[in-house]
Amino acid sequence: GSDVNDQYVRFINVKKSYDQKNLVVKNFNLDIRKGEFVTLLGPSGSGKTTCLMMLAGFEDVTSGAIEINGKSVQDVAPYHRNIGMVFQHYALFPHMTIAENLAYPLKVRKLPSSEVKQKVKDSLALVELDAFGGRYPGQLSGGQKQRVALARSLIFEPSIVLMDEPLGALDKNLREHMQYEIKRLHEQLGFTAIYVTHDQTEALTMSDRIAVFNDGVVQQCSHPSALYETPANSFVADFIGENN
Ligand code: ATP
Repeated sequence: GSDVNDQYVRFINVKKSYDQKNLVVKNFNLDIRKGEFVTLLGPSGSGKTTCLMMLAGFEDVTSGAIEINGKSVQDVAPYHRNIGMVFQHYALFPHMTIAENLAYPLKVRKLPSSEVKQKVKDSLALVELDAFGGRYPGQLSGGQKQRVALARSLIFEPSIVLMDEPLGALDKNLREHMQYEIKRLHEQLGFTAIYVTHDQTEALTMSDRIAVFNDGVVQQCSHPSALYETPANSFVADFIGENN
């Protein structure tokens, strides 16, 4: 069926406190459509990563609710949320080859070895690293390692992919190339992307919509150009344009 909420990710009045005193997320509301590319943009400490962690199920929601496809994820284990994740630090196993790194989560879930083999082959091809399966992470460039991390996050064909500063460790040229790669995968595979960065150029080029965070609150959520043309308040006006 396709009712209004179908395939939505919804944050509804979400609040988060780590110490039962200070709210690091104060009242987060956001609806994300299936296949949309939404970026959480904002200064360090504004609560972006915390929002991803709550959606992925690695942090509890202090109050409010998160829904996927109209259903609360409250009692759904992280494992069962069908969410892929990519971080700034690739977290590849250094003692395993690239192919073994990709195979590992599949083996943990006890997929038959023929299927593991095929999926590893397909996912190396997806990120154009066909010839690199036998190498170790230490023998790859930063951009290549991040492509492996991307491939690994996609291995269970997640409907939602969370990316937290995935390009933060890369130099400028590589960042631009990888932005393109991520967009290509997004368009090809059609997953819903939630992306965290504090780089506004990156946010502007990649996103369907940008949620500007500050101090635990979304200051504005709109299409990239609207942030320039009609900033909702002085924080957004000052923040956008700050480092252009
Ligand atoms: P950055 O861009 O630096 O990653 P962010 O916008 O992603 O920042 P969060 O990492 O969500 O922000 O952090 C928001 C606030 O919550 C910060 O003040 C941080 O110190 C605090 N915080 C984050 N994780 C924890 C934790 N596990 N325990 C206690 N406090 C935490």
